[in-house]
Amino acid sequence: MLGPPGAGKGTQAKRLQDRYRIAQISTGDMLRAEVAAGSPIGREAKVVMESGQLVSDDIIIRMLGQRVEQPDAANGFILDGFPRTVPQAQALDRLLADKRMELDGVIELRVDDTALIDRIAGRFTCAKCGTGYHDTFRPTAVAGTCDVCGSHEFTRRADDNRETVGARLEAYHRQTAPILPHYAAQGILHTVDGMADIDEVARQIDGVLPAAH
Ligand code: ADP
Ligand code: ADP
Ligand code: ZN
Repeated sequence: MLGPPGAGKGTQAKRLQDRYRIAQISTGDMLRAEVAAGSPIGREAKVVMESGQLVSDDIIIRMLGQRVEQPDAANGFILDGFPRTVPQAQALDRLLADKRMELDGVIELRVDDTALIDRIAGRFTCAKCGTGYHDTFRPTAVAGTCDVCGSHEFTRRADDNRETVGARLEAYHRQTAPILPHYAAQGILHTVDGMADIDEVARQIDGVLPAAH
């Protein structure tokens, strides 16, 4: 799942996780867990993330390489927010070749920069089960209560503020968008209109990916 910050990658990846019953691997979630744990990676990543820059390829590639060796990734996985640079895309090619695995598809969620600012400013997440919500576009059914697990605790990301968004968008256009032609050339890039509502985006994605089995 590729797309600028706030495009809906996490929202759609979580759905695909249920549809295909394979692991969703979000490098952003993994980094936030490292930050929360205060690990060496977390300490290094924290400042970088809060400034809206990308964490070093070195750290990300090592972290991802270890993650895909976990048992729950043996039958495939959904990558959410990785790769984000040309070196990461090259590392993924090597990693998949080693594992005799192939990418079934690359989804690019295309959303206007102006819409992303509102998406990011209104984003919040259930602290217990990780379900993503939005103040306007995907509120909880009962105010202050998670639809999925009933928890009353929610978190907002430290980097989800109007100041950091500009840097994150710039990083996407400058460092991540250049990897798209690589997948277009392989005929596996599917560009989806991420401006549509969540269910419509889901329908478009379901239409271009292989059937679940
Ligand atoms: P978003 O939801 O805004 O797309 P993520 O949760 O995927 O953001 O990532 C949050 C931050 O974590 C990024 O701004 C970046 O600093 C870091 N990060 C996540 N994935 C990567 C990656 N593949 N390469 C480099 N940095 C990453
Ligand atoms: P990403 O993982 O790409 O950064 P998220 O999936 O976290 O993006 O979505 C960003 C915010 O926008 C969340 O608050 C989410 O509920 C909301 N959102 C996701 N998809 C849509 C959509 N198609 N229309 C409106 N809001 C959306
Ligand atoms: Zn919950």
